[in-house]
Amino acid sequence: MQKAQRVLVLAPHTDDGELGCGGSISKFIEEGKEVHYVAFSICTRSLPKHLAPDTLAKEVKEATRILGVSNTNLTLFDFDVRRFKEFRQDILEELVKIKSSLQPDLVFMPTLNDIHQDHQVIAEEGLRAFKNVSILGYELPWNNLTFNTQCFIKLNENHIQKKIDALSAYESQKQRSYLNADFIRSLANVRAVQIGAPYAEAFEVIRWVI
Ligand SMILES: [Zn+2]
Repeated sequence: MQKAQRVLVLAPHTDDGELGCGGSISKFIEEGKEVHYVAFSICTRSLPKHLAPDTLAKEVKEATRILGVSNTNLTLFDFDVRRFKEFRQDILEELVKIKSSLQPDLVFMPTLNDIHQDHQVIAEEGLRAFKNVSILGYELPWNNLTFNTQCFIKLNENHIQKKIDALSAYESQKQRSYLNADFIRSLANVRAVQIGAPYAEAFEVIRWVI
């Protein structure tokens, strides 16, 4: 983990990456690692009518900026929500391009036990595209059928506050229970108690290459 210098976060939808590993992103930036964030949908065709089509694009820019990710390291696609399976090959080809241009040494993505149909596509195609790269699956309890806490990243108050601040940039999604600051802090507490740290995020080890 210490050696990983170029980290790639794969988010099926904007906010998944911040929810799954926002505290860790903030810590990596603090440690001087290069963090890239790729979101596969900004939902322009599925947002409620009263919202501008680029609402989520603006919000993810602000959220990742708060975490410290440079704007040039943010890549946004606009695959239709809940229809990723229809674009599976296109998504795989984009992932392969990303792999050859970035050459990341650590990838974060949803786990293979995530039941959201779009998350499943990103997890399965990510596993194919990043064949020789270490991959950690992030925790999204509302979508995880099971979750094995095999890896922990220790965090401090500052990292968790950054995660909460970043997620508060999603003004259009604020009704969602998992964006609640108490929930975010509580989950980081649960994971911390498992290992005796102030805060933590937990991950499933999907592939570990040494
Ligand atoms: Zn999602």
